[in-house]
Amino acid sequence: MCKNIKILAKVKSGELTMCTKCKHFHLTFNNIFFEFNQEELDQFKDYLFAIDIDYWEDQYPCPKRNIPVPSLQKNLILVFNRQEIAELKQLFSGYSYQKFKNITLDDIDYTLVLN
Ligand SMILES: [Zn+2]
Repeated sequence: MCKNIKILAKVKSGELTMCTKCKHFHLTFNNIFFEFNQEELDQFKDYLFAIDIDYWEDQYPCPKRNIPVPSLQKNLILVFNRQEIAELKQLFSGYSYQKFKNITLDDIDYTLVLN
């Protein structure tokens, strides 16, 4: 298990963390746990922000969860409701995440040595 965990963002149902050692991202949301590399994280984020929530709610007016988010496993599709999608988006809009996106990974492990 990763021990060098940095919390990037937190919401009621979960959190987005990053391991500063193996450079992987962990998204914990309710009973779901995702592990992403940088590319996978960006893809997930792009997908999340491109979802047409109104479309899915019209097409599949299921009262509980009707917004599909595909996983990396082909036969596994996760479904969320509007509120959950909003929370997931919040994780990627937080200050820490934005800040992280503006610095390189090397900056995080940087150790200042004074002569
Ligand atoms: Zn790690």
